[in-house]
Amino acid sequence: MDRLILIKYGELTTKKGNRNFFINLLLKNIKNILKDYEHKIIKDRVRMYIEIDDNKINEVVLKLTKVFGIHGIVICHKVNTNIDEIKNKSLELLKNQNFNTFKVNTKRADKRFEISSMEFNDKMGGHILRNTQLKVDIHNPDVIINIEIRAEGTFIYTNEIKGIGGYPVGVQGKGLLMLSGGIDSPVAGYLALKRGIDIECLYFESPPHTSMEAKNKVLELASIINNYSGNIKVHIVPFTKLQEEIYKNVPDSYMITIMRRMMYRIAHKLCITKNFKVIINGESIGQVASQTLDSMLVINNVTNIPVIRPVACFDKLEIIELAKKINTYETSILPYEDCCTIFVPKHPVINPVLSKAIEYEAKIDFETLIEECINNIEIVSNFKKETYSDLL
Ligand code: ATP
Ligand code: MG
Repeated sequence: MDRLILIKYGELTTKKGNRNFFINLLLKNIKNILKDYEHKIIKDRVRMYIEIDDNKINEVVLKLTKVFGIHGIVICHKVNTNIDEIKNKSLELLKNQNFNTFKVNTKRADKRFEISSMEFNDKMGGHILRNTQLKVDIHNPDVIINIEIRAEGTFIYTNEIKGIGGYPVGVQGKGLLMLSGGIDSPVAGYLALKRGIDIECLYFESPPHTSMEAKNKVLELASIINNYSGNIKVHIVPFTKLQEEIYKNVPDSYMITIMRRMMYRIAHKLCITKNFKVIINGESIGQVASQTLDSMLVINNVTNIPVIRPVACFDKLEIIELAKKINTYETSILPYEDCCTIFVPKHPVINPVLSKAIEYEAKIDFETLIEECINNIEIVSNFKKETYSDLL
């Protein structure tokens, strides 16, 4: 095996007590990504090495750039620990590259190798100086030639690809993402995954007021964020009846407040039965009437499960920027109605009062309707993974 992939964990290695748990989970998530490839993984305290068919390396590296918990990815070349082989391979890596200065960085993990790291830096530096036009720059080199001398051989690499960071998905247990077809909630889901929360999604649909296209759009968004997780399921709640009851019985200005309290109640129940520890959504402070602090207070009052709103303090433009980065934006802006955008009242209340919300919703037999919603949830899972061409 001439080339292999080296994975650096970064931040994970500072989690003293939990380190093994974190690393084993990362290993499990990486194995999940690699399950269709023949491969071998060697892991130690700070790194993993993946041996895999050389033709598949670029494709796998792209997939690894979406795995949370990975700090850096390096394609490295493995040679025997033999000075001539190391010299030849290092020169080969520097050939035809467009830069002027370099530095050699040797790590001698295998102390049986008789030359110290410092001495070897000098020896290799001299060899490169004699055989190329390059100059040494210790402080700010254009390229660093890393040489790791290990028991199983010597690994040589130059460029490091930045990993996505965060914590391995699953370290924090499971959370429930309220996923709509908008721009905000897929971004919220991505940010929750990044902190290690393994998410499942909850989508409220109101056919025939909302269309099949609207539902497919949400499933498409779920499949995009599934590339960062691999475990996504979408729980689809038939919301029509409950929503129609709200519109029949509740004054216009409180419709959205009550509708959102019902959504939270359903999310709460699902969290209890499925052991989700947190609700996640794409609310952003002040974005619409139901997202003022007064509204949030009244809406949030129906659940004592923590609700995290990863984009609460982001500007819309910041959310859009992230949506573009994670590839959900183009899908989110497709123009299909969501259940939140049908029957929108002219003047939704921006500072609702809890006692009024309770009074209005008492006109609806909502407990029964919520039960019905929950009993009729449809679950969609097994999202396809991106193909190599999608990734490029
Ligand atoms: P936009 O990007 O247009 O703001 P949005 O998805 O943020 O879209 P909002 O009306 O602002 O829509 O809703 C706030 C949050 O409530 C959403 O981010 C989402 O988490 C949740 N939500 C709204 N509608 C639904 C729905 N139909 N199913 C599940 N969750 C929903
Ligand atoms: Mg929004």
